[in-house]
Amino acid sequence: MPVEHELFFANQRLLQTLAGLCADGRLSHALLLEGENGLGKRRLARIIAAMALCKERPGGCFRCDSCKNILADNHPDVEIYGGAGGAGSFHIEDIRRLRQHAGILPNQADKRVFILENCENMTTAAQNALLKVLEEPPSYVMFILTAQNRNALLSTILSRVICFHLEELSKEEFARALPQMAPTAAGEVDRLYRASGGNLGLAIQMAGDERVQKQAECAQRLLLALRNRDEMEMLSICAGFERDKEGFLACLGHLRRTLTTAMEGRLRGDSQAEEVLGGLSTARVMEVTDLIDSTILALRRNQNFSLTTTLFCASLNNICN
Ligand SMILES: [Zn+2]
Repeated sequence: MPVEHELFFANQRLLQTLAGLCADGRLSHALLLEGENGLGKRRLARIIAAMALCKERPGGCFRCDSCKNILADNHPDVEIYGGAGGAGSFHIEDIRRLRQHAGILPNQADKRVFILENCENMTTAAQNALLKVLEEPPSYVMFILTAQNRNALLSTILSRVICFHLEELSKEEFARALPQMAPTAAGEVDRLYRASGGNLGLAIQMAGDERVQKQAECAQRLLLALRNRDEMEMLSICAGFERDKEGFLACLGHLRRTLTTAMEGRLRGDSQAEEVLGGLSTARVMEVTDLIDSTILALRRNQNFSLTTTLFCASLNNICN
């Protein structure tokens, strides 16, 4: 098995594609890695940077100093930017600094790589500033953007990046990865796989974090209320997050994941998946996931919490009646 495949647990086909493009010198100068938090965007960005900068082997050797330093965030030609502080926390000042640095020739490698994380948090002004350097980058510059959802980016940016979507881990990949990443959770592979829907980062968090467990439990309660058409229970669950919008967003994320994982199970004829879905038709499940998406978007746009969640519960109830 190639070394990069031991560094990354899932998305093996994507990894192969990237390594192939890199070895042929056909890797685009601007990539976007899209996927939910916990799926490994951060790690994959560093693996790609190592692939692009390694001088030992086209596509990365993952053993030389360059590769090791990149994976440890300690390479002079790889810079990391990002808004980890929520919506609007990736500012134009960051991009101005990036543009200055993009004018400097690489120090050790042939390229300079700029990793831009959490691009969903980039302000419009920052995106417009980034566009200028994406349009006419110096020949030695490469950009790796990460975002939970590509729709948070301007279409003008999207037209200049090649987007790769990260998938959840399969049950087999998950069973192999979890004991390595969280040895104490090794006995809970089945439970954590179900609760996280194959999102390894989330499962590791769940294994040790009560708050995340509560969010996951509330998602299960919401699903039960949905199947029982119990609008009062839905409202009561939402009210419990009145002062914790991020918690509620995470809870909605769990619910969405549970549904999509179960839908994939339904397609395979998995009886456990049918238990989760409790007789909900495929069309209804899709309506529910659309509703979850629009609710997440409304809350991210700072619409009123009580109004949005009341509407959410009423719509959920309608879908199932
Ligand atoms: Zn190397």
